Amino acid sequence: MRRFHSYRVESYLDYLKKLKLTRKITDIHLHHTWKPTKKTYFLASNKEKVIYGMWRYHTKTLKWRDIGQHVSVSPDGLVWDGRDVNLMPASISRHNKNAFAIEMIGNFDKGQEKLEGVQLEAVKKLIKGLFEIFQTDHLIFHREYSNKSCPGTSLDKFKLMEQIRDKVEIVGASMATKEQMKQYLLMVNPVPKINCTPDEMVIYYLDEGKKEGIRGDIAFAQALLETGFFKFGGLVLPGQNNYAGLGATNTTQKGRAASFDTPQIGVKAHIQHLKGYVSKKPLISPIVDPRYTILEESGLLGSCKYVTDLNGKWAIPGNGYGEKILKIVKKLIAITVKEEPQNIQNEKILEENERLKEENLRIQQQIKKYEDLINALKHQINNFS
Ligand SMILES: [Zn+2]
Repeated sequence: MRRFHSYRVESYLDYLKKLKLTRKITDIHLHHTWKPTKKTYFLASNKEKVIYGMWRYHTKTLKWRDIGQHVSVSPDGLVWDGRDVNLMPASISRHNKNAFAIEMIGNFDKGQEKLEGVQLEAVKKLIKGLFEIFQTDHLIFHREYSNKSCPGTSLDKFKLMEQIRDKVEIVGASMATKEQMKQYLLMVNPVPKINCTPDEMVIYYLDEGKKEGIRGDIAFAQALLETGFFKFGGLVLPGQNNYAGLGATNTTQKGRAASFDTPQIGVKAHIQHLKGYVSKKPLISPIVDPRYTILEESGLLGSCKYVTDLNGKWAIPGNGYGEKILKIVKKLIAITVKEEPQNIQNEKILEENERLKEENLRIQQQIKKYEDLINALKHQINNFS
């Protein structure tokens, strides 16, 4: 019996990297199976049989030499091997010569099943990896060359490409909340070396970011990356309130990069510097970033739209720099905020306060009553004598 093997995406890509390629691959073809559906796969007690079923259909009914696709991505996020990568796929007729063919198991036409969760993540990671290995960015949806809806009417190629390329704009509103940012920081580093509270730090990033139209969570994630989660230890010292390595290059002496009087000014300078990379529009606040004019002079002003555009510009050589920031942003957004013990404590104190106030009022009223009584008695005594 023809056997098939499943891999995690990373392992499959590792296998591909080591494979000796004997043909040129320039196009990544994307299909959905339509049948088998996700449901078929989930219900199957032996998942390999689902792939085997496709092989049998392709070879016995359609009389192909092997299963048509190079890989199938299953709803549980696994990559199943298929046709030898060094053989053309049976993917899109007249377009197979330089193709690598992916089948996503499921029916992704609108109103049917959804491409989501681990399967979507696996598909994105796989395509991204294939782009790197084959040095291409040419993704082809089956429907581009046929009147089929494949890989499903619910899929938007532009959106998928944006997700694959990690195209996240620096401009915009923060997606992470203040609590998420603070809790993530304290989870990684419970004692950040900052000259303000973690609450204040997060608020500075959100407020200054909002002022300039920059995503505060992205800038904050960049600060976490640049300062090692505010552990510092690099060229910048904690007392400098410099969270983005402003003025620090490989030849800068320790402690000689830019310094700022307060954490808030340090954050403002960071946001301004980031805005400089993103936009040619003037800053809203007065300039505190000592490196802002250098951006103008070097032609870098407004040269970055997406976080990954910072690679090779903010950071040199900067391979993977923006991706590292985005990884942190993803983690920030994924934090489930727990009710803080401190908040609960505060509420208890407030309640107790209210109770004491009421009691105080009651006692005051009683004192007043006794005073009135005493006065009345005094009055009577005076009259008596
Ligand atoms: Zn197709």
